Amino acid sequence: MTRTGASTQTDGSAYRPEFILVEREVESLPMSVRIRERLPEVPFLPVDRVDSWLSEVGNSRDPLRAGKKILYLTRHQGQVLKTCQGMCAHVSCCLYHVVDFACNCPLDCSYCLLQNYLNHPLIRVYVNTEEMLQELEGRLQRLGSTVLRVGTGELTDSLALDRYTLLSGELVPLFARYPTAALELKTKTAEIDSLGRLEHRGRTVISWSLNTPRMIAGEEWGASRLEERLLAARRCSDWGYPVGFHFDPLVWYAGWESEYRETVQQMFDIVGPGRIAWISLGAFRGPAGLLDTVRERFPDSTLPLGELLPGVDGKLRYFRPLRVEMFRKMVGWIRAVRPAQTVYLCMESPRVWEQVFGFRATTADVGRLLDAAVLP
Ligand code: SF4
Repeated sequence: MTRTGASTQTDGSAYRPEFILVEREVESLPMSVRIRERLPEVPFLPVDRVDSWLSEVGNSRDPLRAGKKILYLTRHQGQVLKTCQGMCAHVSCCLYHVVDFACNCPLDCSYCLLQNYLNHPLIRVYVNTEEMLQELEGRLQRLGSTVLRVGTGELTDSLALDRYTLLSGELVPLFARYPTAALELKTKTAEIDSLGRLEHRGRTVISWSLNTPRMIAGEEWGASRLEERLLAARRCSDWGYPVGFHFDPLVWYAGWESEYRETVQQMFDIVGPGRIAWISLGAFRGPAGLLDTVRERFPDSTLPLGELLPGVDGKLRYFRPLRVEMFRKMVGWIRAVRPAQTVYLCMESPRVWEQVFGFRATTADVGRLLDAAVLP
């Protein structure tokens, strides 16, 4: 067997790496020690360079899948808190900030933008956590009355590695100390056990990306089933956390209407209206090369069947009237259960906002909407 040749889980059970590589310089940091202790049976290999591993992964049949079997513990360089990459001139953004404690994801969604974005297939975990948290706290201390919403789920799933890093145990109490700060932990897993005992004071929103059971089974490799996610959301809500949901990507396929409608209903049935801070909607989109990647890595995927057109930002999207129709229907199904529910669009223009909601939301409007949803 080669170093990266064995298979991993495909059913949403907990992720477990096959190898842990650690840069010698960070081997003794507390986070490296913690991960090693929590995965005692996984080979833990100090390295000076990872080149030989990268070339072996690169020679495998699916380098992206093979790279996900290896955790690479390394140091984060550069600024910790960044603005979300969605912020650009053409769309109304939500003024979100991100902190990346890891880069690359144990899950493997067919539509994942990381496939065309990362130049390194291993799962990098940044283990200089104490420095990163100190820098983040410095920013929180200077907030005053400014609201800051921060997520950790831009380049990975926020909770898929939490059973090994226990990072939520540091982040959630940190944000609990700052009344105008809000942390969002976004996931497709049911990895919530460590959240139940944490002091959160409502400053952390636990959120789930949702899709129909058909899309989850066909397009979200390694993720938890819909019902598992919703039951996890219910438990977090019972622990007092605000919860959020992201229907992103909404995928057009024959029968999408009845299946998304049922998914919305199931969300409210299990979690309950009135417990949800926000719901976002985002239609399937991606860079020009994404569909080629999907066809190559996921030959059974239905994503390439939809008609996608390049927009002004060069990204492929569904034709605007189709997106508007999907958003309007989703908003209608959501607001039929809870008329006051905060719903927003991800990476859409003021024109699309107007066609869906009847007003041209600017970036500042969307920011205020979400600030209001999460402030006490
Ligand atoms: S959960 Fe998110 S980051 Fe992870 S593979 Fe899926 S889309 Fe990519």
